[in-house]
Amino acid sequence: MSNPAEQETELETVDVALGDRSYRIEIGSNRLLEFGAYLKHLAASIPHRSDIIGKLAVITDSNISGTHAADLAHSLADVGWPHQMIVLDAGETSKSLDVIATVYDRLVEFQADRQTIIVAIGGGVVGDAAGFVAATFGRGIPFVQVPTTLLAQVDSSVGGKVGVNHPKAKNLIGAFHQPKGVFIDTATLKTLPDRDYRSGLAEVIKYGVILDAEFFEFLETHIADINDRDPQTLRHVIATSCRLKADVVERDEFERTGLRAVLNYGHTFAHAFEALFGYGELTHGEAVAIGMIHASRLAERLQLIETDVTARQISLLGQVQLPTRLPETSQLKTDEILDRMKLDKKTVAGRLRFVLPTKLGHVEVFQDVPEADVRAVLDTTPE
Ligand code: NAD
Repeated sequence: MSNPAEQETELETVDVALGDRSYRIEIGSNRLLEFGAYLKHLAASIPHRSDIIGKLAVITDSNISGTHAADLAHSLADVGWPHQMIVLDAGETSKSLDVIATVYDRLVEFQADRQTIIVAIGGGVVGDAAGFVAATFGRGIPFVQVPTTLLAQVDSSVGGKVGVNHPKAKNLIGAFHQPKGVFIDTATLKTLPDRDYRSGLAEVIKYGVILDAEFFEFLETHIADINDRDPQTLRHVIATSCRLKADVVERDEFERTGLRAVLNYGHTFAHAFEALFGYGELTHGEAVAIGMIHASRLAERLQLIETDVTARQISLLGQVQLPTRLPETSQLKTDEILDRMKLDKKTVAGRLRFVLPTKLGHVEVFQDVPEADVRAVLDTTPE
């Protein structure tokens, strides 16, 4: 058995196989100061780069520019690689075309070219926005993700979806642009606010329900370590989540076969709850947790699963302090939730489509779920 100091340096890797867009996700702990050396090595493997010391733009947000992004900047200085730092205001409002235009301006000022690499260090907002810049500037330049929220580490940094919001619709404008590499340091999660950490755990638990019963069981038996953000447990949890998402992305990179839809378990309900509550009232993860339980109850009602599948989800979500029902104060009416769900971009021609479990670790897409059953689930207040 290795000693704890060695365990801190253990590295987990997940290879995402997408032909010439393939890349590796590396998950370690306390390794941000090694980023410069990592990037130098990675850059040398990017084809058509005449000089590994090309230009570098680091994009981050105002909450971590003085901490994790500063550590990353030190590591670049250590390997003698100059960079420009572009700091976005923290928060979802930075995912807008107006903000992206200011980033293009900075890149032009900096005389960025097609050899320039963009490094995105931050949560899903920075990854999506910086990735969109990388997808579009010069018709596409390389980028590397350094995700620092749990949600970004297990979800948004994997799969190549990048983009910004339209004032009337979230994530409406975007592209598929895979990173050249994803560099994860679990130590960055030490500073993540509790609510953001738990929000990421909702997606982690989702992977267990939809794809891997054994992983779900691992989560059930490691609650204390998960709540303590234990590095070794986190490396395993993040690597498994990335592997599960990568397996889906590898088979449906551009969301054409419909397979990628399984990742939306709980999301049809969640998007309606988020929109009706007003974004910010419930975090995305909280809405997903509540949405998963609604979807699971719907599956029970359609006799796809036994009640214990829902009970285990409620128990696990509860143990990581995620909600499993709408707040008591919720004034939401079933009709308005249903109307909202019909507006969801995943609803085809007003037909209610749901991703539902048929057992723990497996989900299927069901078209044309009778509205009466959805209504019954929304009308029933669980004890
Ligand atoms: P976020 O980027 O806003 O980060 C949450 C908060 O944590 C922010 O205030 C941020 O400044 C702060 N933060 C980041 N890292 C920190 C750290 N280590 N310590 C302390 N604070 C830190 O939000 P998020 O939850 O990471 O991501 C949400 C976004 O991701 C949404 O815009 C969503 O649409 C997108 N998303 C994209 C995909 C995809 O496939 N591209 C998938 C899921 C979600």
